[in-house]
Amino acid sequence: MGQYNFNGMTRRLFRFVSLAVVMASWLGTAATAQIDPRTALLEKAGWDALTAGEAQKAGENFRAALAADPRNARLHLGAGLAAYLERRDDEARMELERALALDPRLTEARAVLGQVQHRMGDVRGAISTFDLVVAGAPDDAAARATLERWRRELELHDRMQQAIGERFTVSFEGPSEEALATEALASLDRAYWRIGAILGAFPATAVPVVLYTTEQFRDVTRSPTWAAGAYDGTIRVPMRGALDNRGELDRVLAHEFTHALVRTLAARNVPTWLNEGLASALEADDLTWAGERVREAPARIPLNTLQAGFSRLDGAQAQLAYATSARAVRRMLDEAGGAAMANLLRDLGGGVDFEVAFLHRMQRPLADFE
Ligand SMILES: [Zn+2]
Repeated sequence: MGQYNFNGMTRRLFRFVSLAVVMASWLGTAATAQIDPRTALLEKAGWDALTAGEAQKAGENFRAALAADPRNARLHLGAGLAAYLERRDDEARMELERALALDPRLTEARAVLGQVQHRMGDVRGAISTFDLVVAGAPDDAAARATLERWRRELELHDRMQQAIGERFTVSFEGPSEEALATEALASLDRAYWRIGAILGAFPATAVPVVLYTTEQFRDVTRSPTWAAGAYDGTIRVPMRGALDNRGELDRVLAHEFTHALVRTLAARNVPTWLNEGLASALEADDLTWAGERVREAPARIPLNTLQAGFSRLDGAQAQLAYATSARAVRRMLDEAGGAAMANLLRDLGGGVDFEVAFLHRMQRPLADFE
């Protein structure tokens, strides 16, 4: 999991923001017509790029427009949204705060700011921000539900204890889970050395991990029922019964740790099949399950249909998507090695086009590989 929670949330958020803002801003621009035509064109290009999902291009256009019109709150909102979609969270927060300083009624900016704060781990700040969003839009049931969920998350996390290791901090709810937390830390350490050695890379800072009950996990992450863990900057795992099945515990933690490591190498632009394929190929040594799943399937799934999240899939479709991704990644690792894979991820995070990076690092065209 991991990657696709974010995608789903982004899609919802983006629909909300883009419709409201594009309409309001264009009506406003047309009515007042004070902005110079070049800035207006840059702004339009920015919103068009966002609508097309081209965050990088959108950011360039908004920044160019801001150079001419730095006190335009909508331009700061656009720049903030582009940065948010590219996971440049510090910049996103700065732009959105600037937008709100210029126009405190810009509720869309406040809604995105709350999501940025939450993703940066500032749950308390996100709640304060969403208090204002809900106050400004009392009929917005989705915003209200988000606020309630974050309040439950904060309340739960406030009463959790922490086991602090050098490479991970593990939060858990009560003394009864202390043994489990110790076990999880040891398992995570094994994953850290094993998977880090394969890719020749390690996370730069300690990775936060939270152990939940099954109900808490579903509530906080809103994962599909088949998900065994999630990563959104924090590794989140439901732990009920985990000590009864150590192999499964190791597998789930290694899978989510791989997502954390991928994020270290590339904060953005990683197709879901590559991210999930790495996590599924590296979670355990044995990939027999993936071969069986693909052989049983009536048809192959092309990788380019697995760019976006898997959370929309049902259990059986998801299994096939994971199996297909895992086998593709296994073959890439066998053919090119872990260091080349790490470099491919760094290229993607740096904004290099996927097919260009693939050809360079895997030494063959993607179409040929498929
Ligand atoms: Zn995953």
